[in-house]
Formats: sequence, structure tokens, C-alpha cells
Amino acid sequence: MPEATKIRAVKGTRDLLPPATGLWQRVEDEARRVFAAYHFGEIRTPVLEPADLFARSVGADTDIVTKEMYTFEDRDGERLALRPEATASVVRAYIEHGLFNQGRVNKLYYIGPMFRRERPQKGRYRQFYQIGAEVLGSEAPSIDAELLEMLVLLLDRLGLRGCRLLLNSVGDSHCRPEYVKVLRRALENMQGRLCADCQRRAATNPLRVLDCKVEADQPLIAKLPSILDHLCPECRAHFERLQAELGQRGVKYELAPRLVRGLDYYTRTAFEITSDVLGAQNAVLGGGRYDGLSELLGGPAAPGIGFAIGLDRLILAVEAVGQLKPQEGLAVYIAWLGEAALPPAIELATELRRADWSVELDYEPAKLKKSLGTASKLGARFTVIIGEGELASGRYQVKNMATGEQQEVPAARVGGYLQERIGSTFFARAEIGR
Ligand code: AMP
Repeated sequence: MPEATKIRAVKGTRDLLPPATGLWQRVEDEARRVFAAYHFGEIRTPVLEPADLFARSVGADTDIVTKEMYTFEDRDGERLALRPEATASVVRAYIEHGLFNQGRVNKLYYIGPMFRRERPQKGRYRQFYQIGAEVLGSEAPSIDAELLEMLVLLLDRLGLRGCRLLLNSVGDSHCRPEYVKVLRRALENMQGRLCADCQRRAATNPLRVLDCKVEADQPLIAKLPSILDHLCPECRAHFERLQAELGQRGVKYELAPRLVRGLDYYTRTAFEITSDVLGAQNAVLGGGRYDGLSELLGGPAAPGIGFAIGLDRLILAVEAVGQLKPQEGLAVYIAWLGEAALPPAIELATELRRADWSVELDYEPAKLKKSLGTASKLGARFTVIIGEGELASGRYQVKNMATGEQQEVPAARVGGYLQERIGSTFFARAEIGR
């Protein structure tokens, strides 16, 4: 038979394996804890959506929709897409289930994979993960401030202290069109001097020029008019209230008048948090207000604001800072020597596992040396040895793998003995310097 060729993961996607996934779980747990403290509930929406959902919300002319979205025709002819982001899905669900009838703001969070056909590089993948949250049903600036405070707390819990919060207002449907006109005029005067992409953007979506990363364009972009000088009185008042409240809450930020976001639906508040421990792809998260999105998707007027954290990048930053440790691994390895020791080994494993400890044991007869080797390779904290002598005396050997210290413990006391040494701290989350 000819040798079969190996099948590899699709370009830009990757397998996340243990023990690395232990850190992902820690980060996700921390996020869930912080979101719960701010009274957010979890929403899980499908990965597959009608392609039109994103064309209408993210914007038919955006890079995401024109170049990066995975779309295909289903067998019944329906155009489907793998979601490139989740805000549109959350708003679709909000409308579909009439959540606006609950008579209060809805605070929802999600964790899951997104898909964009981008050029893969470190921190940029075609299947990547986002942790995001949305607040629907109010335009109060206090909500924007609370959301940013929550993000700062989460990053702090993850040990990421050196992050920068960049803040802007992109106006609304009253003032932004006026600003875009002013911007267009300024860009006409720069014809031919900006990069090719910007020349194209100047005609199709001038705001995107502000977002250009080409070094040579930066001095020209710095001369373009600032949106903050063109906000209408309502947008200006909203932005001022937000900044005053951030001050009260002790949230530090930098004004970034050139910050525009890659999606069409944003209004007013726009923000990004960057981390200098990441390389070129330094944006850990982005978000903003999208007050007209619900109407755009056929729903009632329902202002909203949200953010999406790039989980892959967040993990890279958490690893670089190194303060957060993955969930603890194996607590106990049980080495049994001789068939007669297997039933008591199983009994002990069951008892300890029911107490939520992570336990591993030999599945086949093995020599003590080999079992101890396996235990230390797996990073077990303790090894319990049950051999002929131990069976006869009813006292098991318990070896501390870090110190090598070994002690004889009555069989019925092993659980209690380990409890005293590993105890509740084993599963408690590691404290990070507060
Ligand atoms: P966006 O949905 O474009 O506002 O992105 C929000 C966050 O998701 C960004 O700040 C990144 O951290 C992350 N992100 C976006 N695209 C990718 C990608 N292709 N790979 C990894 N992370 C991404």
C-alpha cells in the first residue's frame, strides 16, 4: 500500500495542546470571574451565520467582508459565513429573542473562535479567539466608563500592567458625515503623496486613511483635521462625560484622535488597548459604541457598546509578563507494585478524584523506578507507593516529589495527609502581586 500523505491543520489555524491550554483556561476563568462581578451573562451564538449579517453590519466595503471572510453556499443555496467577529451575532440574537423587552440594559459576554483569511504571522491567525462583551439598551456614558474600568481590572488581574488605553470619539450620523467631507477635501490636497492603499481609501472610505500604518504616510496623516474638532454638541458632551467619569474611576487613558476602527458600525466612543510586550501586532483589544447597529439589522433603536479582546494575543502578553501561572497539573501519582496492589490503588485514586484532586496511576504493571520516572515527568506533586510491604502493614509510602522526602502514612489517612500538604491552596488560584 502506498504511504498515505499526512494531513496538516489548515494554514493560519493551530492546535492548542495541554499543558499550554492550562494558561488559556486560567485566563478565561479570570475573565469569567471579572465579567460576573460586573453582572454580565454569557451568550453562545453559532459560528455559522448568514453572510449578509456581516455585510450589513461590519460593512460591505470593509476588508473583513471583501477580502477576509470565509463564505460559502450551503447545499440549499443559502450564503453562509464563518463569523469574522461576534458583535453582529450578539445583536442579531438580541433582536431575534426580543431581549430588549426585558426593560433593562443587557450585559452579555462571549468567548469563542472567529475566522478571517488574513496573512498569518505571530499574533495573527485565520482562526483566532476572542473574549468580548456587549452592553445593549443604553447610550449612557457611564456604561462606557464601566466597561473600560472592567477591562482595566481584567488586565490587572492577568498581571498586564504596562498597557495603554487609547481613546477617541468617532462622532455619530450627525457630525461624522460633515467631518468626512472636511477630511476628503484635505485628502484631495495630498493627492499622489500617500501610499496606494490610502489613495484608494481616500475615495472609498476616507476615515480608514487615519488608520494607515505606512511609516512614510505618518507626517501627512498627522496634518489631517482631527475628528475631535468636528464633534456635534451631543457627541462632545458624551465624550466629556465619559472622560470625567474615567477620571473619577481612576482609569488612565490617552486621547487618540486618529483612532478609527476597522468596522463601519462604530459611533462615538472608540478605543483600543495596546501592550508593548507584543511585537508588531500590539493591539490586545478594541471596541466602541455602535448606536445604530440594531436598527441596521432590523431591530428597534438599541444603543450598544462592546469590545473584543484578541485571546491569542492576550495569552502571548500574559506569557511574556509571566505573572499568571497555568492551572496546576497533577497532584498525585499512584504507583502500585504487583497485581494485589491494583484494587487498593484504584480505590485510593477514586477517593482522591472525588475530592477534586488530579490523580494519575499506572495502567499496567511497572517497576517502581519506572513509575517514579513517569510521576516526575508528569510533574506530580506526590507519589503514593503501594507494594507488598505496604499492603501487609496497611501503611502506604507517600513521596514528596519536590523534596524527595518520603513518609509512611496509614492507608485511611492518605487523603488527610495530602490535604494538609496540598490542601485547599492546590486548587485556589495563584495570587498575583496586587
Ligand atoms: P477587531 O474585531 O478587528 O476589532 O479585533 C479585536 C481584537 O481581536 C484585536 O485587537 C486583536 O487582538 C484580535 N484580532 C483581530 N484579528 C485577529 C487575527 N487575525 N488573529 C489574532 N487576533 C486577531
